[in-house]
Amino acid sequence: MNKVTFLIAIISALFFSCEKKDEYQKLATNDILLEKPKSGDWLADHPEDGQTFEAYSKMSPMKPNEDRNKIYILPIGGLTQQEDSLVNLTVEYLNLFYGIKTVKMQSIKDDIVPKDKRRLNENGEEQLDASYLIHEVVPKLKPNDALAIMAITGRDLYPKSSWNFVFGLATYTEGIGISSMARYDPNNKDYRVGLRRIIKTSAHEIGHMFKMKHCTHALCVMNGVNSLSEGDSRPNTLCSICLKKMAWNLKFDNKERFKKLISFYEKHDLKSDVEKMKNQLELIE
Ligand SMILES: [Zn+2]
Ligand SMILES: [Zn+2]
Repeated sequence: MNKVTFLIAIISALFFSCEKKDEYQKLATNDILLEKPKSGDWLADHPEDGQTFEAYSKMSPMKPNEDRNKIYILPIGGLTQQEDSLVNLTVEYLNLFYGIKTVKMQSIKDDIVPKDKRRLNENGEEQLDASYLIHEVVPKLKPNDALAIMAITGRDLYPKSSWNFVFGLATYTEGIGISSMARYDPNNKDYRVGLRRIIKTSAHEIGHMFKMKHCTHALCVMNGVNSLSEGDSRPNTLCSICLKKMAWNLKFDNKERFKKLISFYEKHDLKSDVEKMKNQLELIE
């Protein structure tokens, strides 16, 4: 290598590293920072510190390896036909969102939950104890090659007796979680109402399994939410900091991932997500 070639090699290496480093700085310009929480918002009730990329990178989050490399989705309870198609679409979506093979399992009946782990919610509908499900039921069904397993049910859930309900729940260490469609109007004649919500909760809960804490930085799928309206106001996309965490851990190519997710959002006419992610893609193209 002569001096000139050597210099060019160094300059291109520098250029490449600047390009890489800048990707998240560019994406940060698209972040809509969270405002001071209003009464009733998640952060008003649960003040949280968030999680920097540096803090995340020290947590040794789980990642796919030769032995454990799939996400399993376990349907629980008798789902309606439309609820079942929402589960199928969620499986397709998670494949694209995490870039990890996602597999739907044979469904199980909810009579696996004993009487003392059920109660009635404020509308007189039966609710299942989500903690019991993620600690006692789902772990026994986790396949050996599962990196993560998430149950999805049409039944309403509660995490502990003092809470009214929960949209979903996950463990930080075992790779086990559950999401409920019960409050998402999953049988609305417009299936997209339930779709946008269940893919959001599922991606969020699996994010926790990868040791992602709630995002307190910007509007992001990793924001904690207290209500349906707060959840609906959140995008399906990750903010620049949460994306950097996931891309670092799972080594996905941001552009390729954006393109695939945009096609999914377009196919199901999830307009605000299409727009948000197209803006992200433009910034790094
Ligand atoms: Zn959460
Ligand atoms: Zn975030």
